[in-house]
Amino acid sequence: MIHGQTLEAWYASHPLIRDLVALHETSWFNPAIAPAATALADVGLGAGDVAQASARLQRFAPYIAKVFPQTAAAGGLIESGILPLPQMQRLLLEEAGLPEGGKLWLKMDNELPISGSIKARGGIHEVLKHAEDLALQAGLIRPGDSYEALASDAARKFFGQYRIAVGSTGNLGLSIGIMSAQLGFQASVHMSSDARQWKKDRLRASGVTVIEYASDYSVAVEQGRRQAEFDPSCYFVDDENSPHLFLGYAVAAERLKQQFDQAGVRVDADHPLFVYLPCGVGGGPGGVAFGLKLAFGDAVHCVFAEPTHSPCMLLGVYTGLHDAVSVQEFGIDNLTAADGLAVGRPSGFVGRAMQRLVDGYYSVADEELFRLLALAYQEEGVKLEPSALAGMPGLMRVLRDRDYLERIGVSPERLANATHLVWGTGGSMVPEGEFAAYVKKGLAVQRRLSNGDAA
Ligand SMILES: *Cc1c(COP(=O)(O)O)cnc(C)c1O
Repeated sequence: MIHGQTLEAWYASHPLIRDLVALHETSWFNPAIAPAATALADVGLGAGDVAQASARLQRFAPYIAKVFPQTAAAGGLIESGILPLPQMQRLLLEEAGLPEGGKLWLKMDNELPISGSIKARGGIHEVLKHAEDLALQAGLIRPGDSYEALASDAARKFFGQYRIAVGSTGNLGLSIGIMSAQLGFQASVHMSSDARQWKKDRLRASGVTVIEYASDYSVAVEQGRRQAEFDPSCYFVDDENSPHLFLGYAVAAERLKQQFDQAGVRVDADHPLFVYLPCGVGGGPGGVAFGLKLAFGDAVHCVFAEPTHSPCMLLGVYTGLHDAVSVQEFGIDNLTAADGLAVGRPSGFVGRAMQRLVDGYYSVADEELFRLLALAYQEEGVKLEPSALAGMPGLMRVLRDRDYLERIGVSPERLANATHLVWGTGGSMVPEGEFAAYVKKGLAVQRRLSNGDAA
């Protein structure tokens, strides 16, 4: 029995579960989505909260520019660019035998400074929030001061009395660890078995304590939470439920809006925007999608992407069980090369808050992630890690589902004006040798497919 029903009963009441259990690539567009004006109230956070997070990042910008010189040119703001992907678009549409349906772009969070992934948004924001709270309380800084003062030895010594802990599959640990260590905090990162060796090495080299587990993400998070419970000087970054992570991610949207304005990309009812977001526990894509809904309202359509072996958010929202269910309960193993997405149980906070605001969810096979990784590198010269390719097939999933497009009021004329944005969530810090092995693997998949053999 699974949550009071047999597997057969689940298949009868929720037919897509059969495909998920069989590890087939699956798409589901939620019929229960609602207009932003109504559904944004579900979140319990608003535009004012995002504005506060944005202002906090501005206050810290002089400090960030000083301690991370690679951000100085951007004035200490941690931001990435956008890039059109014309070759990739042509190739994908040709493969799928689909006509034109808008323009494909990449959001290059793979190149975010400091930690090379989307986690440089939420993770760093939460560490800065904690540091600011402590420093203001202790009178180390006063409102209105320049935060450059936090780069002093005295400030580092002050933060050294405190610890920050987090559970992670790799990238969150990297962002929390690097930022915490830079401020002077003691940092502990509880890493799941999926975490790549280079990420652990990198953290240890920065003076971060890395604790390794033979089990998956949920266990690493639980252990981190427990360590913090018994240590009053320890602050736990709760990836499953944190509003400060969520808000740090949400700030991306207002900046994206400016980038689109500068690039002459229009977004309105007649020029819809589709955004494809790789999803692990859900905080990153959830926060970005929340910001996007605030910034673009009903003109933006957010779609979450997961590996076929870890479709936790799809399963949680589709069944309505949210964080009460894990993929493992349905016999899905949560073993994937997309380490950033290797999560078996979704965030209940994000699943519930965002369920009427996220248009759809789909799953992608690992082999397809590698194939797309190689193509994106060859065709467009972009360096993405496997997780960051999950958004790439989104364009085809949307174009193929006419019922969905009709339901959301996107006519063929509107579709022709659409922008499809793949959120490239990580990859620039992957070591060269490892990246070359990814490309090789992807090319092998591509060769096998073009030789006509089924994968
Ligand atoms: C963490 C991560 C995601 C997903 O973010 P969640 O908050 O776990 O949903 C996507 N891509 C990469 C590369 C990541 O590291």
